[in-house]
Amino acid sequence: MLYNSTQDKTAVVSAAQAISQGISKDGGLFVPQEIPHYSEADFKSLLQEDYKGRAKKVFSDFLTDFTAEEIDDCVTKAYTAQKFGGDNPAPMTYTSLNGKSLNILELWHGPTCAFKDMALQILPHLLTKSLKKTCDGKDAVILVATSGDTGKAALEGFKDVEHTKIIVFYPVNGVSPMQKHQMNTQEGANVKVCAIEGNFDDAQTGVKKIFTTTEVSDKLEENNMLFSSANSINWGRLLPQIVYYISAYCDMVNDGKIAFGDKINVVVPTGNFGNILASYYASLMGLPVNKFICASNANNVLTDFIKTGVYDKNRQFYTTISPSMDILVSSNLERLLYMICGNDDTVVRDWMTALKTEGKYEVSDDVKAVVTEKFYGGFCDDTRTKATIQKLYAEKNYLCDTHTAVAVNVYEQYVDATGDNTPAVIASTASPYKFSKAVLEAVAPDAELPASEFEIVDKLNALTGVDVPAPLAGLKDKTSRFSDVIKADEMQDYVLGALSIK
Ligand SMILES: *Cc1c(COP(=O)(O)O)cnc(C)c1O
Repeated sequence: MLYNSTQDKTAVVSAAQAISQGISKDGGLFVPQEIPHYSEADFKSLLQEDYKGRAKKVFSDFLTDFTAEEIDDCVTKAYTAQKFGGDNPAPMTYTSLNGKSLNILELWHGPTCAFKDMALQILPHLLTKSLKKTCDGKDAVILVATSGDTGKAALEGFKDVEHTKIIVFYPVNGVSPMQKHQMNTQEGANVKVCAIEGNFDDAQTGVKKIFTTTEVSDKLEENNMLFSSANSINWGRLLPQIVYYISAYCDMVNDGKIAFGDKINVVVPTGNFGNILASYYASLMGLPVNKFICASNANNVLTDFIKTGVYDKNRQFYTTISPSMDILVSSNLERLLYMICGNDDTVVRDWMTALKTEGKYEVSDDVKAVVTEKFYGGFCDDTRTKATIQKLYAEKNYLCDTHTAVAVNVYEQYVDATGDNTPAVIASTASPYKFSKAVLEAVAPDAELPASEFEIVDKLNALTGVDVPAPLAGLKDKTSRFSDVIKADEMQDYVLGALSIK
């Protein structure tokens, strides 16, 4: 199977090249040229498999330049019971709220307690094998822009991985204290973490710019290095996310929650549009999805886009209690639009150019019609997010994080507006303890708020009895290694300095 750029169809690469490079030189994203389709028999056989078996099947159908042994090796090393706290790294929890069933897909049992681990525990294995196939002997420099969770998950995945170096940029005031502490205490000889004065979009734009600046990539080339990406612009990030939607469906069938062949809805708290796009790919492969419910926080650029067909990032940026979704440029939307407009690279390039120059584009009526038919967009502000956490905890004793609460709230809005009772899989993307302050304020509004992050964690734990994930509890005693803060326009210089090739 081959891949090409969304902005230049003639930029054709293998899977290994797509993963090594991360992004196409023209600035477009790599997409598969065909999508495998699973028959009823295929799905039936996946019902019998465990998570790793399901992952191997999906990976082997997309990564046709990898051998079965290579895929086996990647999957086996990534999804260990030790790293994910059990044999199923993505277990379902069934609960309900106000009479609405909530089928919660818990994606945060990995080493950094956010769903990013599902992809970033396997990406380093995919990448080192890809590098070997495409440019043996070179070192990959992973540049990451993060709104909090990707950074830590990527650091943890890539720490001390041979032939890789990783540099993470995060918005100085845009991540939770726990996220900051997780990143700044990161161990490993090949890692670097730096804050930037700006928001996530500034960090992402900066990284994309470094990637596509020829003079920088030439410099790396001279030094036997190349850039790669661990953001969801990398196909190697998206592919692992397809697996858990298929796996969730199989689990729900096996658990007797749905009958084989039943349709489901999918609800995803969305930022960069990677997670929800993965569910869309799963549906193109044959997974019976009725509606994709795209949940945003106050940064509701996607809600408006799904309603109007106009993507307009010229608006107030809000810092919210669900910081991993504080994003105004959702990069992976580009992949969706490419597919929906019939693989028209010219039109996608025009829209993305307009986004860059005017901060805005409008899709054609045909494309808009498909988007509104398949997707529902909704949003939820911080007050309602907290109310949702409180209600779910009070009614069902289920403690969810702020991002998951946005999804639950938007799902309620959707059912109230449409009456659609199709069983819905709700992606739960982080442990509540990553956002302890907001979660504590939600469940105990009158409680006194302790000064330090770890006291807040302890208080939330004492109050709810919900276990603190071991990787977060263990951070308490770690010392900070990184404290750099720079301006967004200093990122390029910083990278060259960090690599000692200025
Ligand atoms: C990254 C992240 C999201 C957003 O996911 P996208 O794939 O960027 O849409 C939502 N919730 C949490 C906790 C995250 O870390």
